[in-house]
Amino acid sequence: MKLALILSVVNPGLGGVLIRGEKGTAKSTAVRALAALLSEQEIISQCQFACDPANSDYWCESCKTLTDIEVGRRRRPLVELPIGATEDRLLGSINLEEAITRGESRFEPGLLASANRGLLYVDEVNLLDDHLVDSLLDAAAMGRNFVEREGISVSHPARFTLIGTMNPEEGELRPQLLDRFGLCVEVRGLEDPAARREVVRRRLEFEDNPEKFAERFLGGEEETGRKIELAGLRLAEIKITDQALDYAVRICLSLGVDGHRGDLTVIKSALTLAAWKGLSEPGPEEIMEAAELALPHRMRRKPFQDVDFDVRGRLNSE
Ligand SMILES: [Zn+2]
Repeated sequence: MKLALILSVVNPGLGGVLIRGEKGTAKSTAVRALAALLSEQEIISQCQFACDPANSDYWCESCKTLTDIEVGRRRRPLVELPIGATEDRLLGSINLEEAITRGESRFEPGLLASANRGLLYVDEVNLLDDHLVDSLLDAAAMGRNFVEREGISVSHPARFTLIGTMNPEEGELRPQLLDRFGLCVEVRGLEDPAARREVVRRRLEFEDNPEKFAERFLGGEEETGRKIELAGLRLAEIKITDQALDYAVRICLSLGVDGHRGDLTVIKSALTLAAWKGLSEPGPEEIMEAAELALPHRMRRKPFQDVDFDVRGRLNSE
C-alpha cells in the first residue's frame, strides 16, 4: 500500500491507486500521511487552478493571457470527495443565468479544480455514483476537466493523483471502472503477533502524546518526502530497455490480461519504481514488482475465484 501510494505521487500519470481492504487497516490514515510527506509547490497566485509557473504547457486559459505572473507557494492539497457530492460540486458549474443575461459564462470551480496538482481522495469509492466515478476517472486520465451545460463548455487543467479506498465487503466496483485505476493493492490486518503488538503500542503512544509521537518520526518523514521529490525529477531520465519491455508483455500475456492498458501500466510503474530506487533503468525485479501492483485488478477471474492474487505464484505454476 505504501509503495503504491508513493509511486502514484512520484508519477501522477500512473492513473492513481485503488486500495481494497477490510475496515480498520489504516487505509485512510496512510492516504492522509502521504499528503503530509509531500513538499511544497510553486503556484501562480492569481490562478484559481494553481497552475505551475514553470510549466506553461498545462496552464489554464486565463494564465495564458497573464502578462505579469505572481509566484506563490503552497502545500500540495489533499482534496477529499464526500460520498454524497453532486456532479456540480465535483466538476464545477457554469452560471447559466449570467451566461444568458450578460452573454458571458462564469465558471464556479468544483473539487476537481481544487485538486489540480494535488491528491484527490475518495473514501468508499465503491459507494460513489457510477457516473461520478466515470467523470472522475475521465478527468484523471486526461488531466483536464470538461464541463458542458446547455451548449456552453468550459475546461481547465485537472492533473491530480486519484486515490480510492474501499471495503469489498460493502460492494464491488464495476469491472469497467476497476480497470481504469492504475494500481490496485489489497490490505489485510497483520498476521505477525510482534507487528500487531507494535501497532497497538504506537497507537497508544500517539493517543498519550500526539506531538511527541509526531516528533519521533519527523526526520524519517522529511527524508521520505525528499526522496519522493527526487524520484519525480529523475523519472524523465529513466529509459526502458527492449528486454524489460519484452518481459512485461510476456507476463501480461501469460496471465491473460485483457487489452493493453495493463502492459502500459506495468511499464510506467516499472519506470517509476526505478526512479524511486535510484536506478537508471528497470530490471526484471522492477517489472515483477510493477506487475504485482498494476495487474491484480486486470486479470481475468473465474467465478468464485479468490480475490487474492499472487503474480509470482501464478507465473510459476504456468
Ligand atoms: Zn491558471
